[in-house]
Amino acid sequence: MQLPQLKLYNTLSRKKEAFSPIEPPFVGLYVCGPTVYGHAHLGHARPYITFDVLIRYLSELGYKVRYVRNITDVGHLQNDADEGEDKIAKQAKLERLEPMEVVQTYTNSFRADMLAVNNIPPSIEPVATGHIVEQIALTQQILDKGYAYVSNGSVYFDYQKYAEDGKFGLLSGRVFDDALAGHRELDGQSEKRNPQDFALWKKALPEHIMRWPSPWGDGFPGWHLECSAMSVKYLGKTFDIHGGGLDLLFPHHECEIAQHTAAEGNMPANTWMHVNMLTMNGQKMGKSLGNAISLKQFFSGDHPLLAEAYTPMTIRYFILQAQYRSTLDFSNEALQAARKGYRRLMNGLRALHGLTYAAESEVAFNQKAEDEVLKLVADSYEALSDDLNTAIVIANLFGMLKKINQYQLKPAETAQLSAETFELLTTQYRKIIVDILGLIEEDKADTGELISTILDFYKEAKEAKDYAKIDAIRAKLKAQGIAVKDMKTGITWAWEE
Ligand code: ZN
Repeated sequence: MQLPQLKLYNTLSRKKEAFSPIEPPFVGLYVCGPTVYGHAHLGHARPYITFDVLIRYLSELGYKVRYVRNITDVGHLQNDADEGEDKIAKQAKLERLEPMEVVQTYTNSFRADMLAVNNIPPSIEPVATGHIVEQIALTQQILDKGYAYVSNGSVYFDYQKYAEDGKFGLLSGRVFDDALAGHRELDGQSEKRNPQDFALWKKALPEHIMRWPSPWGDGFPGWHLECSAMSVKYLGKTFDIHGGGLDLLFPHHECEIAQHTAAEGNMPANTWMHVNMLTMNGQKMGKSLGNAISLKQFFSGDHPLLAEAYTPMTIRYFILQAQYRSTLDFSNEALQAARKGYRRLMNGLRALHGLTYAAESEVAFNQKAEDEVLKLVADSYEALSDDLNTAIVIANLFGMLKKINQYQLKPAETAQLSAETFELLTTQYRKIIVDILGLIEEDKADTGELISTILDFYKEAKEAKDYAKIDAIRAKLKAQGIAVKDMKTGITWAWEE
């Protein structure tokens, strides 16, 4: 099947562009990863699920993706404008842990959550503290090019000099003046030439635990620096796609571009993709805003704002219901509707098991039905190629589901389609749901409860002395590795040993 040309919205050019990688079939994708000082929340899940669908679809299109997603384990200060305490050091103090224990705890937690929502792990997952040498080298490179200066053991990016070339704010159209207007009087500003300058390397105060030696004294890297250093190391000086949440657009990505352009003389990535925010009752969700619900809380239902628990696949479906650049508002009602939609799609997968083409049927070929199915499949791929419009993809899947349900009810009507189109419908329904959208069946029944229901029938058969049925139940359970224990004290079961 010929798939349509992929078009992606590029934040840099502010339009959808036909995607063509620098060195096909290879695609370099860098996605800014989490700062690991707390459990991932729903807002985090959206960009990572979106980029997961992107890599799945790129693979479907025949590309080989190198997906680099970093872990920020040092240097992210509380204020994104470069001020305050290190987020991880602060959490370590709160939890009375070593900073690296905090990092390990929340890195493990993050990876478990990403696997739960069925995200494919990155090809490379570099951590900032593992790339101090590269970050020091990049800082030196920027100093050598004259776009940074040393002040009191710290190194700052010379924003004024860079902005004179008119290159700052390419993505967001924003510059530092308005963003920093309220922060001019903060401590530490005095060692900067201009309040807009941001740290490449920060001098560590005596009580600071996370510190490394450098040509400028003991210190630690600035947050923006790690992505510049690690993307070059693993993807080269120019790579295909740089992505992240919309909250990273400014200042983080603008600073990354400034650093990279100052050092290398070119833009780091050709395409910049930004995933829109999740809101709750119209308000942005985020840990720093105090209204973030962690994924673990969604999975357990343990949060005052949650009416019940929601499974990882319900969350995934909820996120994919909207195109990634549109806003998406969270509510219990929206999640309950998402669960319903997800289960309907899964029931369609189950319906496929027993469905075969009725070659010998009294029902005649129907060109209209044939065209409808062909269009539903084609439109799904058109939507995927149109900047990953998963909302339209799901609408078309429900169109296919309607056909599948019809044929499950009346198998003879499969003959309305040609054998090839019937095959296309069933294989593409599964492929789009499972392989591309990454929605998989999740067990929702309790095994113990199911077995005890079967044992009730066993008991009835025993009372009726129906030995054929007793043997049949025992044999079927044995095939599942389950032994019926028929004891004087009652009937129970055990795993076969
Ligand atoms: Zn980044």
